Amino acid sequence: MSDQKPYSFFQSVERSFDKAAKFTKWEKGILEQIKACNSIYSMRFPVKMDDGRIEVIEAYRVQHSQHKSPCKGGIRFSEEVNQDEVMALASLMTYKCAIVNVPFGGGKGGIKINPREHSVYELEKITRRYTSELVKKNFIGPGIDVPAPDYGTGEREMAWIVDTYASLKPGEIDAAGCVTGKPVTQGGVRGRKEATGLGVFYGIREVCNMPDIMQKQGLAVGVEGKTVVVQGLGNVGYHSAKFFREHGSKVVAIAEYEGAIYSADGLNEEEVFQHRKKTGSILNFPGAQNLPSSNEALELECDILIPAALENVINGENAPKVKAKIIGEAANGPLTPEADEILAGKGVLVVPDMYLNAGGVTVSYFEWLKNLSHVRYGRMEKRFTENMNSHILGQIESLTGKSVTDTERKFIMHGPEEVDLVHSGLEETMITATREIMEIWKNNPEIPDMRTAAYVCAINKVGTSYAELGIFP
Ligand code: GLU
Repeated sequence: MSDQKPYSFFQSVERSFDKAAKFTKWEKGILEQIKACNSIYSMRFPVKMDDGRIEVIEAYRVQHSQHKSPCKGGIRFSEEVNQDEVMALASLMTYKCAIVNVPFGGGKGGIKINPREHSVYELEKITRRYTSELVKKNFIGPGIDVPAPDYGTGEREMAWIVDTYASLKPGEIDAAGCVTGKPVTQGGVRGRKEATGLGVFYGIREVCNMPDIMQKQGLAVGVEGKTVVVQGLGNVGYHSAKFFREHGSKVVAIAEYEGAIYSADGLNEEEVFQHRKKTGSILNFPGAQNLPSSNEALELECDILIPAALENVINGENAPKVKAKIIGEAANGPLTPEADEILAGKGVLVVPDMYLNAGGVTVSYFEWLKNLSHVRYGRMEKRFTENMNSHILGQIESLTGKSVTDTERKFIMHGPEEVDLVHSGLEETMITATREIMEIWKNNPEIPDMRTAAYVCAINKVGTSYAELGIFP
């Protein structure tokens, strides 16, 4: 292996796909079609910066599959963006959506910039110009392709996108559905922000609740008391850490690109976040020990390792030194194929990105549905529940002989809030997907790892779609 060139990210995805395809019944042509990126839009456009300089911006949007429409996937702002990376990420979106039964094809976008090196005004101009390029080429729209946040982007950028799209498409009644991850005040959905991190937590919790799997890993059942290391304190890492901590796990280390910190007693992600905001670094957090490099955190003794930043962080070099028993891939593609093989050999359970971080797109689906229906979740039910439930409330109290608490009263009287519906929909989605993949793995003992089982699940679903739809013309 050492004399081989390292695989590109897209090649790694293709390699994992081929490894899994052997365990499916689809003919070669269908497999080739599932694997291919259908449309690739590579663009360059000029933007005038604050100092009057004109900069040519390199950007992409890739639609991997239209077996279901629209295509769906985030837009990242990073200096590492390149066509291969966006292709890989778009492919992962197809498989991810298939596994969690979200009826979208995969897409992804990227702009090759370092957002920290631009003013807010420059970022707005870049985002709006990029959106206008997508509109011109018909690469965006509620029924065509729906972007969302990804590494380096968030609600703010999504608001600029929807505003630009609506301005260029006057009168389009479903314009709000052209992008997800918007601020709640602009058609976003409550619960979208924490969705990916919460989905990571739900997925890992389900794995930890499987006695046979935990026995194999030499761990006790449940997430309580487990030691967790999180790499990346962005939206996904922050919320993963938060939900693990809130459910009794101990987040013993957090890593960022400037370094890492360790505390055997456990870290509070919000306090670390505030410290970083104040000092510009996570290092020197009171009561914690500094680790000289971010990479060192990946090699710490722990039960669960959550890489929640970028791809390829665990590779042939550092994989032999990883001591975690479970790795939850919160980021997209954090392990190289070499790392995968080494870790499988060591008996580490890798819970794969392509479904584990599907919380974001799952809740994006809820947001898109909300935008198309033009009604807020819970609003339709509210009048109905309020009338019905004052009667039910009385009955509950007379049957139990106790008066209900204020919280119970609120819930029974008004029905669940939007955020409760979103969280419970996400929980159900992640539990079902985890069980489905584990079932495939258990029923096919030749399948080497959970990633391959997840690919088998995805390939079968997308393959069924192609088989049922037939090939046009
Ligand atoms: N960027 C996220 C992902 O990679 C979310 C995509 C979406 O919500 O469409 O899954």
